[in-house]
Amino acid sequence: MKILVLNAGSSSHKSCLFDLSQGAESAAPQPLWRAALDWTHQQDKVELSASGAGESIQQVLPVADKAAGLEAMVKTLVDGPTQVLESLSAIDAVGHRVVHGGREYIDSVRIDDQVKAAIQRLIPLAPAHNPANLQGIEALEGILGNVPQVAVFDTAFHARMPEAAATYPGPYAWVEQGIRRYGFHGISHQYVAQRAADMVGRNIADLKILTCHLGNGCSLAAVKGGISIDTTMGFTPLDGLMMGSRSGSVDPGILIYLMRQGYSADQLDQLLNKESGLKGLSGQSNDMRSVTEAMEQGNAQAQLAFDTFIHRLRRDMGGMIASLGGLDVVVFTAGIGENSPMVWQQACAPFEFLGLRLKEDLSRAKEDQDIANQDSRVRSLVIHTQEEWAIAQACLSLL
Ligand code: AMP
Repeated sequence: MKILVLNAGSSSHKSCLFDLSQGAESAAPQPLWRAALDWTHQQDKVELSASGAGESIQQVLPVADKAAGLEAMVKTLVDGPTQVLESLSAIDAVGHRVVHGGREYIDSVRIDDQVKAAIQRLIPLAPAHNPANLQGIEALEGILGNVPQVAVFDTAFHARMPEAAATYPGPYAWVEQGIRRYGFHGISHQYVAQRAADMVGRNIADLKILTCHLGNGCSLAAVKGGISIDTTMGFTPLDGLMMGSRSGSVDPGILIYLMRQGYSADQLDQLLNKESGLKGLSGQSNDMRSVTEAMEQGNAQAQLAFDTFIHRLRRDMGGMIASLGGLDVVVFTAGIGENSPMVWQQACAPFEFLGLRLKEDLSRAKEDQDIANQDSRVRSLVIHTQEEWAIAQACLSLL
């Protein structure tokens, strides 16, 4: 079974083709083909990169339109040096990452008109993501015809959270209006939690796992018995941890204060989503590598950004551990989580009292690894997240 996966964002798309002829496997295989579209660097042009059949290509195309970009990308599956299929009819299914599934969609679902209407209806809750997801679905319908398409929601894994964890303590009208914690990065949290259980050789039903997705966006999930029972992102992906350019949780009184000074909603949106976090505090970059480099050269703002990132990470890890009522495994994943021994050390240090002890010599690795010391009562794993693979598997099990 050949499954095409599309992760369509507002200004870039990523895609993979997996061959699941062997059925579901526990470790992620290499995709047959991989491609990306990026509209961020050049006006009215898209950078297309693709790799397949041992070859790779990079092109800049005069294409501003998303659907036309997708058409050019999909063409590299059947044409040119990266060709891996005789014809597009060899694709059996398409899996889409869809950011917001609201309260209706707590599992992956085959896409039909009703599902598309729901993704459209949920746009106010995910204005940066759901429109792009919907465009991607409709563009591939146009290109591939009646091939079954599946929506895999980033909110779904958190949809079984207890009400007390999902509720914001505003007026009860918020509960009725759906103003609640939805949580995001669910595809990643679910994949790494299951992979963690496999790595420690135990049933996920018996484990209390804290998953730390630390990339440009950052969130934690408390996974008990295979279910996300708490998470740090909330009504939007702005809540919780400090991130690359997002503030994470701040006192809502700050927003009231700034509004009274004349800031508009759009200006606050820009400030909190694009000009805060590592970038805002360090004044350098949203990239942890640049921030730590500047910090090592004695830059005080970069030091403050790093220290604040770690402080808030530790504090929220403590909150998740309280929700779990214990801890068997802590997992680090995504760009920072997969690559930064300094973050692993600093994040775990306060939890030594729980018996969590890391190895002395730690370095990043291509493989998933256990970074806990042998005598540690809690395992600590670094797992490379495989969101595209998880989406392909969700398609396979649904179809
Ligand atoms: P992601 O959103 O998962 O692609 O993660 C992207 C982020 O990972 C980048 O913005 C960097 O902050 C971070 N990152 C990538 N490589 C490293 C590294 N070697 N050390 C620290 N942070 C890294």
